[in-house]
Amino acid sequence: MERLLDIAKSCMTVRNYVYQKYSGIQSLEKIYPGYTVQNEMTVSGLREKLNLPAVYFYPAVFNALREIKTQWAHVKRNIYAAINKNDRFTPQDKHYLRFAIKFDGCFANILNGRPVRLQGETRQRYESIVSQLQGDQEERIKNLNRYLCRQVRKKLHKIHTDKFLYFSVWERGYRYGEAKNSEGQKRRGIFLTTKEPRKRIFIPLTDANQYRGILDIKLKPEKGSVEFLVSVFADIKSHKDYCNEIGISLGLWNMLTTSTGYTYGAEFGRMQKELYDYGIRERRIYGKESSKAPRRQYIAHREKMEATLKNYVNREINRMFESEKPAKIYMAKLPPNQEGENYYLFRVWKKGYVTQRLKWKCRQNDIEIIEVFGNRLSAECSVCGAFSERQQGHLYDQFQCTSCGYTEDRKINAAKNALNRGKSGRRLNKAYPAADSLA
Ligand SMILES: [Zn+2]
Repeated sequence: MERLLDIAKSCMTVRNYVYQKYSGIQSLEKIYPGYTVQNEMTVSGLREKLNLPAVYFYPAVFNALREIKTQWAHVKRNIYAAINKNDRFTPQDKHYLRFAIKFDGCFANILNGRPVRLQGETRQRYESIVSQLQGDQEERIKNLNRYLCRQVRKKLHKIHTDKFLYFSVWERGYRYGEAKNSEGQKRRGIFLTTKEPRKRIFIPLTDANQYRGILDIKLKPEKGSVEFLVSVFADIKSHKDYCNEIGISLGLWNMLTTSTGYTYGAEFGRMQKELYDYGIRERRIYGKESSKAPRRQYIAHREKMEATLKNYVNREINRMFESEKPAKIYMAKLPPNQEGENYYLFRVWKKGYVTQRLKWKCRQNDIEIIEVFGNRLSAECSVCGAFSERQQGHLYDQFQCTSCGYTEDRKINAAKNALNRGKSGRRLNKAYPAADSLA
């Protein structure tokens, strides 16, 4: 129980850290959809300081974020109500205020005293609403914006928690199994990750239910017991028309190629290279010695480039979902050092960020993503199964089979192999032990 309490208290520290840092108006733009916060938390050093395994750390971050979003929703609802009750506002004023709250490009900027940033149709709607305001429009907007700021100041509170008995764990932080008790009887239970590497703690279970996904845990120290609550991933969207099985292949240049022969994220490599080159060039100019101001500018510009790239990655994944309509996606397992939380160490993101977002979005859209054995994936012929090493004199991005002569784009061939391997059961999953023998 002590070890669990220790984990629970660390999770509470993480939540309070997130509350403190991201619940204010300055962070409003960062919390939707939240991966900026996740990335910043990754590099914050807090996890290392607390020695808290990632399987507890990130759920704590997301729980706190959810709480912050809930509070914002609450604040907005309250302001809507206040506006409706206020007789001093004309219908046009109310229209403007409701619009300003609804769009984050408006709301966050107004609260932070910046000009609004809207595009396309939203911009036009904004302008038409503004043009209907009575009197001096600029003065009116100023007054209405001031009203919004005042309302938010009044209704937004600092969040803090001292509840530490609740925390959550990722799926890979636990497994079901059996252990013998002191009398030598086998008992069913759950093995939970602890702060010590490779040491799991066994908790006997009273029922036979098995859950998947994030597990919410409640400690009851006075009874010496633990309760597991199933958490429902609230915003899963199921798509009835998503019924295809596809293979994909990730790349550093073209972000994603599918077995159906399409490329998504064709600008990925170019954008990433620009970011990388910029980093190298600017670091040379603004090394540690130089004055602070240009360095700050450099960091701000780099962050902007990163945000643009992230946005692009997410948009292209969405576009892939919409046009491929997959129910199942097969992809090769990446070498562990390119994946997950360590990706930031690479300076350039490589494929880590893409994989992470892809998995997250699959989960959100109820798409199954299945990792297949990745060894020599791009050297195998997707038609006859023979292995061909790249021949000298051949184009790098062309695959040509030395056995049957099949020629195909290297990435498309690899994506087709991912699909073949997945369908034939060569998956990286304990249910398919054949994966190793087929290597
Ligand atoms: Zn072949």
